Amino acid sequence: MSLLKTYRKEELSFLANEIVAEYNFENEVDVESIANKFINYHYDSYGVVEDGTEFEGLIIYDGRDFHIHINLDLVSFQNSKRARFSFAHELGHYFIVEHHHLLKNNYNPSKFNPKETNVIELEANYFASVLLMPKNKFEKICNGIEFSLDLVSKLSEYFNVSRLSVLLRYVEIGHYPIMMAYCKDGILEWFNRNDEFPFKAFKTKVGKELPINSAVGEYYKIGDYAKHTDIQKIDAVSYTHLTLPTSDLV
Ligand SMILES: [Zn+2]
Repeated sequence: MSLLKTYRKEELSFLANEIVAEYNFENEVDVESIANKFINYHYDSYGVVEDGTEFEGLIIYDGRDFHIHINLDLVSFQNSKRARFSFAHELGHYFIVEHHHLLKNNYNPSKFNPKETNVIELEANYFASVLLMPKNKFEKICNGIEFSLDLVSKLSEYFNVSRLSVLLRYVEIGHYPIMMAYCKDGILEWFNRNDEFPFKAFKTKVGKELPINSAVGEYYKIGDYAKHTDIQKIDAVSYTHLTLPTSDLV
């Protein structure tokens, strides 16, 4: 499930793989050495104003050269997992031909946001995830290993990317039925699932509360935090309708 079309994802994967294949990176992809030949980059403190003008990463064209700026106020430090993803995202804007042209015509790309719906930003995010976690290496590590949070941590350390990035990539290419949901203050902010995941009809919608009888819904409503410190096996019916409502059967 994705807002990007399959053919477009294939094009972006091909591009990112072609770039990364020119280097012999052991495990983590060195985004700076990819930039070296083409782009100037700068790490600096650009502020955390949160008025819509702040950014984690930014790429600009000054009429002659391209510059990537990484905001240390938001990504902690150079080569942090967040810094690396932002950097790779900005590389996407440089290498994706259509973005490159837009940049030369003063398009101003925005910061990384997992709720993003702007196709240009989604494409740069997708490019970044393929670049930082090439499919063949990712699958080699996952091969024969059951999905677990330990596996997610292992992949996160291996590629030096966040666990969130690993999870999104796992949903994309892992061979395990999975749905992930991001909630804040009891509200479902976004979710993602792969085609293998058998339950399609979520009992709530983005922007709405989680079902009260679900473990996460309970966590927010009752506040009995200690009760849910371990991974639990739960019934799918707490989160999903096992049959589609008739309104969805179109
Ligand atoms: Zn962007």
